[in-house]
Amino acid sequence: MSDLDELYQQIIVEHNRSPRNFKRIDGATRSADGDNPLCGDKVTVFVKLDGDVISDIGFQGKGCAISKSSASLMTGAVKGKTVKEAERLFHDFHDMVAGDHPSTDPKSLGKLAAFQGVRQFPSRVKCANLAWHTLHAALAGAAESVTTE
Ligand code: ZN
Repeated sequence: MSDLDELYQQIIVEHNRSPRNFKRIDGATRSADGDNPLCGDKVTVFVKLDGDVISDIGFQGKGCAISKSSASLMTGAVKGKTVKEAERLFHDFHDMVAGDHPSTDPKSLGKLAAFQGVRQFPSRVKCANLAWHTLHAALAGAAESVTTE
């Protein structure tokens, strides 16, 4: 393993152990449920919007290390961002882990780059993407729950 792989591994392990923003938000403007039956990951994302800005975000759920650490890092990445910026990150993250011809430079995604290795493991891509799809649904105001299947 290269030093970089090791660093990325550490980020994932650390966020799985102590996830950030692991909380339900009272008075959330939006929320959505996500489900990845293939792995058994479940996540609920809560968003508080202040105009167009994500002023607070939290998540609850259970699942594998990839899904949990991805949700944790996602909340840190989009907090304080506008809805448009968050959707842009969703697009870039998805492109990095699952795009057919990824054009996103992982370095532009900061710590989220820790998940770039996931693209070599198709079954784990859904784990990494689950929280993002759920956030996307929450921002779109979709009432139905999201499933990766
Ligand atoms: Zn999983």
